[in-house]
Amino acid sequence: MIYPIYAYGHQLLRKKSEDITKDYPELQTIIHNMYETMYSSNGVGLAAPQIGKNIRLIVIDAKAYNEDYPEAASFKKVLINAKILETTGDPWLFNEGCLSVPEIREDISRPQKIKIEYMDENFNEHIEEYDGVIARIMLHEYDHLEGILFVDRVGSLKKTLLKRKLSDISKGNVKVSYKMNFPALKKKR
Ligand code: ZN
Repeated sequence: MIYPIYAYGHQLLRKKSEDITKDYPELQTIIHNMYETMYSSNGVGLAAPQIGKNIRLIVIDAKAYNEDYPEAASFKKVLINAKILETTGDPWLFNEGCLSVPEIREDISRPQKIKIEYMDENFNEHIEEYDGVIARIMLHEYDHLEGILFVDRVGSLKKTLLKRKLSDISKGNVKVSYKMNFPALKKKR
């Protein structure tokens, strides 16, 4: 099943997500559906808040980056209850986008390397280190669990320039090739 992706403007994209346990209802189905949703929208990562669930669950498949980054070719992972333990290395810029923020791409500065603790889909614990584009994807997705979006990380001038576009997205005034859930407009004028 393909879930609609929650668009910029939804309050739940701004909430800190909760850890889950093994007996979280329908967990394996949700993971399967998140992959299906991600592939159908050509994403490389998807965090549960983006499908309307404030739980600490991320799916990643980096193979779309395999031309420029060989390490991405076979990188596919489910991260449950992820915790970034450490970030190191010089910050570098990478042009990011986000399925919840369509039609906007910005160069975002993030650290080079991370040490991350997480559980896989079978609840086996891992502590691993990543760098480059894999660390990049993980940091972007991890931000979603903390209620942070990549557009929060641009400079203040860029932020001003993006204001209108972001407001349009939250109102559904954007062309997207995948199914999205836009926040309901509550205020009437
Ligand atoms: Zn995103």
